[in-house]
Amino acid sequence: MPELPEVEVVRETLDRELRQRTIRRARIRRRDIVLNLSSARDLARRLEGQRIHAVERRGKNLAFRFEGGRVLQSQLRMTGRFALGRERPDRVRYRHIVAEFDLDDGRTLYYDDMRRLGGFRWLEKEEWEAVAGALGPEPLDRRFTARDLASTLAGSRAPVKNALLDQRRIAGIGNIYASEALFRARIHPARSAASLTGTEVAALHRSVRRVLREALRSAGTTLRDFRAVNGRSGRFQQRLAVYGRQGAPCRRCGGAIERIVQAGRSTFFCPTCQVPTHEKRRAAASAARRRSRDASRGR
Ligand SMILES: [Zn+2]
Repeated sequence: MPELPEVEVVRETLDRELRQRTIRRARIRRRDIVLNLSSARDLARRLEGQRIHAVERRGKNLAFRFEGGRVLQSQLRMTGRFALGRERPDRVRYRHIVAEFDLDDGRTLYYDDMRRLGGFRWLEKEEWEAVAGALGPEPLDRRFTARDLASTLAGSRAPVKNALLDQRRIAGIGNIYASEALFRARIHPARSAASLTGTEVAALHRSVRRVLREALRSAGTTLRDFRAVNGRSGRFQQRLAVYGRQGAPCRRCGGAIERIVQAGRSTFFCPTCQVPTHEKRRAAASAARRRSRDASRGR
């Protein structure tokens, strides 16, 4: 499922290509991709004649912004993808085109979605603000500090991995980048979010931002389904340290990467590099015992 970097890669292209373009005609072929209006025809009618002011992103959502702050919210979920051109894109790669938007420059924006778990929502300015406002901070926002992360994690007794996936706490992170960020910060994914020390939160804050930025520079991660506009795939899959690498050697210590299931989702981690706290405490306690025993022996 596309996370912040993948959605941002799509947004950049759409914003560059679609700014100031007017939608001449819209064809919505499947009712189930219309998430909040009574009919596909209703959505098409509202879109026709609208000029696109910008394409923005909030968390994993795309927002086509029109006159008066109205927004077409788009969620790609598992298999949503866009193609843009004067002709219908290749039928092998785009077999499930469910919406077409004809533009005033002769091109058409195609939306293809095999599983149709995502879709579109037509929102008035205030409605979109409410949707965006319910999400947590943007992790790549310059104003997002380690202190912000600390305060959002302090309020959660959930495992830190699950807290990172909670879009109300922090927006845009999913299964891939949560696992990768925790590995880089050497934090066990099952640790309670509230139990992280200040140093650990600072490390996690750094890791989250670094891994998202690096993924963005690699145009995202393509494992199965993700494609940027016109079928471009990402390259970050080559750099994943833990995600999808169950049984493979850890790039840091050489031990085997493990997979566990948390809240129904896979988590990948290195049991050597990401030691749970109670084991850390046990190791520290036994080291202390050894020291005091050595001291009593007069060494
Ligand atoms: Zn390791």
